[in-house]
Amino acid sequence: MQGQASGLSFFVPRSAVNTVNIINVGYTSTNYYVLADKKPHLLVDVGFAGTLPKLQHELKRMDIQLAHIPYLLATHYHPDHAGLAGELQKMGMKLIVVDIQQAAIDGVQGDPKLAKQYVGYDRKAAVVINLEGSRKFLAGIGVQGQIIATPGHSDDSVSLILDTGEAFTGDLPRPLAGAEGSMIIAGESWEALVAQGAMVSYPGHGPTYKIG
Ligand SMILES: [Zn+2]
Repeated sequence: MQGQASGLSFFVPRSAVNTVNIINVGYTSTNYYVLADKKPHLLVDVGFAGTLPKLQHELKRMDIQLAHIPYLLATHYHPDHAGLAGELQKMGMKLIVVDIQQAAIDGVQGDPKLAKQYVGYDRKAAVVINLEGSRKFLAGIGVQGQIIATPGHSDDSVSLILDTGEAFTGDLPRPLAGAEGSMIIAGESWEALVAQGAMVSYPGHGPTYKIG
């Protein structure tokens, strides 16, 4: 479900830039987004280890084939955002890892509740990019936008901002007045998002909302 809070549909046409559809294939109270036009280009976030059947069910409902999604990006390496990444790699999906996320990848593996169902990452097969090169990389896979660092929820949190203003913000907490501690860092991340053209947040949990 998306677009309810902002009144937007999942497709926001703007003539000047190439647009993609944003399709929410989320489950278990977390949003996972497929970016697609004639074909899928990218999956943003994926669920807990052991939830592959749920993902496949949601994809089928949206008429998307898992095998047709070439890339996965995790906004951060928490188990409800990257738990299935290793399993999807095994199935042929390429995992995009931003260099600032590399140290956090094994954090998902460390969750003892997931140990039995967890499929580890193939680090060698991961596509490691840096923030500076993200725009060029994304353009090469059919997505017009960039990735920026947005710490505040976790140090490895990044956001994907499309040139049409949609931002995939993961678990970055919504801005609060009089913020303290880590919320100050989150506030700076929101400022960076706005400075880079983010207008609508597609969060990891809950409906989309307008930024600012
Ligand atoms: Zn998280």
